[in-house]
Amino acid sequence: MTVTAAAGADSRTGTRPVIEVRSLRKTYGLEDTTVHALDGVDLVVERGDYVAIMGASGSGKSTLMNIIGCLDVPSAGQYLLDGVDTRRLDERRQALVRNRKIGFIFQSFNLIARTTAQANVELPMAYSGVKAAERRERAQAALERVGLGERRGHIPSQLSGGQQQRVAVARAIVTNPVLLLADEPTGALDSRSTADILDLFDELSLAGRTLCVITHEDEVAARAKRVIRLRDGRVVMDERVTAIDGPPPGVSR
Ligand code: ADP
Ligand code: MG
Repeated sequence: MTVTAAAGADSRTGTRPVIEVRSLRKTYGLEDTTVHALDGVDLVVERGDYVAIMGASGSGKSTLMNIIGCLDVPSAGQYLLDGVDTRRLDERRQALVRNRKIGFIFQSFNLIARTTAQANVELPMAYSGVKAAERRERAQAALERVGLGERRGHIPSQLSGGQQQRVAVARAIVTNPVLLLADEPTGALDSRSTADILDLFDELSLAGRTLCVITHEDEVAARAKRVIRLRDGRVVMDERVTAIDGPPPGVSR
């Protein structure tokens, strides 16, 4: 029997795309009130890429993010996340795939109040059956990775916005997901904290992580390796700035 190289490579060395979206459509409303939030989007994101998704308000960014994040399903078209056809999943399995494969970073941090940074970062591992001692260690390592090792006992209200977002990044990377998905991650931050988060994204990208960042800000998009622009639910620009295996713009190896 001949085993094709492609089949082996797919599962082990991870050469399949992280995101594979074909003819994606999302419509809201019925008949004469129909809104085509996504109107035939094709998008392939390979492992190690750092993609910024831009577009004016109403262009379909959140709709696309929700589908990529397995928080919503398309009206038509196909979406494979790390090779998994998301159409075939029921809600429970969709939640599982989401937890296992994606690390989310939101504009408003979405940390649990009155709960330490450490416990916030441990949370996603609680659902995936990681033992308590390992949860503690991995959360600690993730917090050190984002420069907050010393503050792991602090609760969100004792941290600045930038620090809270770094906790959220630690929470996103602690499960070692194939995709980091960020929705306006610097939208609530001052310029100093924005710079910190963008430096952190550069480091994660250099370390081989796959990032997909939705943003309004040119400053944020300028750090990505590829910029995609949406208008009226369609991709109107898709520009590669840096090779997938190269450092993000402005970062020397
Ligand atoms: P963006 O995030 O780029 O601002 P959205 O994805 O939120 O854009 O919205 C794209 C289009 O879909 C807009 O015209 C918006 O009004 C519409 N839309 C989004 N969500 C809904 C919804 N739940 N019901 C009806 N229309 C919606
Ligand atoms: Mg939006």
